[in-house]
Amino acid sequence: MEPTTIVLFGATGDLAKRKIYPALYNLFLDRKLPSDFTLVGLGRREVPVDVFRANVERSLREFSRREGSNSAAVSQFVQSFYYQVLDVGHSEDYDRLLRFVKEREAGYGAVANRLFYLSVGPEFFGPIAENIKASGLGSDCGWKRLVIEKPFGYDLASARALNAKLSESFAEDEIYRIDHYLGKPMVQKLEVLQQNNPVLQALWTNRYIANVQITASETVGVEQRAAYYDQSGAIRDMFQNHMLQLLMMLTSQLPTNSSAEQVRFKKRKVMEALEPLHRQQVGTQIIRGQYAEGNLKGQPVAGYTEEPGIAATSMNDTYIAAKLQIDDYFWRGVPFYIRTGKRLQEKATRIVIEFKEPLQQSAKHPLVPKTPNLLIFDIGPDEGITLQLNARDPKDKGAIKPIHINFHEQTEDMPEAYESLIRDAIAGDPTFFAHWDEVELSWQWVQPILEAFAANEVPLHRYEAGTWGPAAADELLAADGFRWWQDEQQEQLAPAAAAAQLA
Ligand code: NAP
Repeated sequence: MEPTTIVLFGATGDLAKRKIYPALYNLFLDRKLPSDFTLVGLGRREVPVDVFRANVERSLREFSRREGSNSAAVSQFVQSFYYQVLDVGHSEDYDRLLRFVKEREAGYGAVANRLFYLSVGPEFFGPIAENIKASGLGSDCGWKRLVIEKPFGYDLASARALNAKLSESFAEDEIYRIDHYLGKPMVQKLEVLQQNNPVLQALWTNRYIANVQITASETVGVEQRAAYYDQSGAIRDMFQNHMLQLLMMLTSQLPTNSSAEQVRFKKRKVMEALEPLHRQQVGTQIIRGQYAEGNLKGQPVAGYTEEPGIAATSMNDTYIAAKLQIDDYFWRGVPFYIRTGKRLQEKATRIVIEFKEPLQQSAKHPLVPKTPNLLIFDIGPDEGITLQLNARDPKDKGAIKPIHINFHEQTEDMPEAYESLIRDAIAGDPTFFAHWDEVELSWQWVQPILEAFAANEVPLHRYEAGTWGPAAADELLAADGFRWWQDEQQEQLAPAAAAAQLA
């Protein structure tokens, strides 16, 4: 691998500590980092290099999935770490940074690549990109790449303005927009599963699928992010990016061995085929919710508007459920129900595919109660695949009962999303990053929702913390004759429980 310098803006921040340093360390242990590798951490505060390295070591002990206490490996790893003071708005700081980077790279004996990782607030993305260009940091190097974190814009107009700004300094193929859901192993497996299993290929159409449900539920509340979250809500924090990316990854009908370009082309096609939502439809297709006080795992928890830093009058959404339709050959007529929220009963990211009923029902063994075939992809925190079939119950006069075939991946020693994404960014593989086209089309789809919420045209349903969200979200499915899978059936659908049942 070629010599590479990672310039990390926000090196003293929470994301660097919890995700970026542990990911780099695990790549280092797996020999997936260049041997000539330097990380220059940046922040406004003066931090001596030995203190910076000690902070990195501490973050590995606390957050690395393995061997954070292997002192020899850790010591060797942090030798590549340096720190510079930089305020994003001070152009002279970039000049000093360039001199430092050149000094380090001079020792390589070959031209180094530069990866600029922006782990800072989105308001800094534009000024940083501009200063990288103006200072010459983006010149006289091998490749240069820009890695940015969400949120990418606040709405369609601000996202377009930000993209135009970044495009002055970086080409689209140099920009790596992280959506860490795309780094999750099960999400990356979806494509392979579809391509290598005729049984899935055959069923992956509106002919057999009744509906698809995508859920990302959190048990946590707003935590320490009140200022950010109260401006963002579930729609910007989760739906516009992670949830729509899951939808694209699930529904793109990809050819075998797809290139990054093909993956992005297909994802764009899905977004283009998504039936647009008009502002007057928001009230019927979108459910907006906010958690009220309740109980979670036996503990009383406060309502959203009682949380520190949240105004008592806040109308912010902590829950969204939506009905979407993809108007293309494969998916026409299949409703996609997507929901995400905070302070829900269970922490889980899960896709449930509900199949249509058999063409002919058995008169001898009628399906009562209705138990459709379900294919469930558990994306996190547990990873697994469950297939619900109907079988004869030998203990109950041959009545029909659902059985579960379950695969459960051991995730303890699996690379985390940030590991595979940072590795891909260094390797120049953009497959699992969000292309601007997808980002723009996603904002375009949610823009009427943002406007309807801002104008308060949509009811805000308060739901009790520790439940599955507002009853209105159940009615959204009930109107089509469906229900959310995993409410009362949660026990059955949880991978461990399903495995036990099978055993
Ligand atoms: P954070 O803990 O608040 O850290 C912010 C970093 O930015 C600090 O290192 C701070 O350094 C630096 N910074 C602030 N103002 C600066 C300035 N004027 N010049 C130079 N550096 C400045 O934030 P974070 O949680 O790490 O999040 C970073 C980014 O990732 C944000 O865009 C966030 O939305 C996104 N993100 C975070 C998470 C997460 O789990 N934390 C998840 C997804 C996305 P000094 O104070 O030392 O200057």
